[in-house]
Amino acid sequence: MTGSSRGIGAATALALAGDGWHVRVNYRSDEAGAKEVVSRIESAGGSAALWQGDVADADDVRRMTEPGDDGPVLVLVNNAGVRVDNLSPSLTDEDWATVIDTNLTSTFRATRAVLPKMMRARFGRVINLASVAGIRANPGQANYSASKAGVIGFTKTVAAEVARRGVTVNAVAPGLIETAFTEDVLEGDMAKAIPARRIGTPEEVAACIRFLASPEASYVTGTTLTVDGGLSA
Ligand code: NDP
Repeated sequence: MTGSSRGIGAATALALAGDGWHVRVNYRSDEAGAKEVVSRIESAGGSAALWQGDVADADDVRRMTEPGDDGPVLVLVNNAGVRVDNLSPSLTDEDWATVIDTNLTSTFRATRAVLPKMMRARFGRVINLASVAGIRANPGQANYSASKAGVIGFTKTVAAEVARRGVTVNAVAPGLIETAFTEDVLEGDMAKAIPARRIGTPEEVAACIRFLASPEASYVTGTTLTVDGGLSA
């Protein structure tokens, strides 16, 4: 579970632990947040461990996805993500690379690492965090939307490659969700543009990821589930 020290990742870690999964709670720098997630999981009777590592670093991804005492990774949630917004003419190479490496390349590397064991087990779940910004225009986010559209394309193709082995690969595309990620943009009457007339919660996204990770979702693969209160409808 990448990027699970707060926000959607933290809510998903709690939900998956509630379903009996041991959760690797990954974070890059927010150690206090990650420790709190582990302790909340343990107080609820679940099992979790801290996994520090930068998903934009190939060696860290390799280490975080290797089988350990907790067994092979059979459910992978590629959630860690960043945004560095600017209008396209002003985006620097660094703004571009940071967002593509963190959001898209990490998803490829982690998925590549865990698929062989999933296919051998004839069970696996890969759930990738996309975004409504990967589906429709969001001026000022060309790098971010390219990364998330890439996640959607990657998800579909890998899903078709591994479907016969009992492994499903899906994306979840949130709209506006109340987390640290959006606190600088959530202001005024933004909710008016959303058919549901409100911002979503991390728990509402986590519930969808939980379903996609469950045995009940065994025939759902290659899809992108929007969780956006109707924003992209
Ligand atoms: P938050 O900023 O609240 O949380 C991001 C998490 O990712 C943190 O745990 C952060 O930990 C971790 N993280 C960031 N970069 C790295 C890295 N390089 N390596 C490891 N961990 C990292 O974001 P959200 O929960 O809101 O977003 C989660 C995902 O959902 C993202 O992929 C985002 O693009 C997507 N999304 C969110 C939407 C929203 O409205 N909130 C809308 C659409 C999509 P640390 O601080 O330690 O780095």
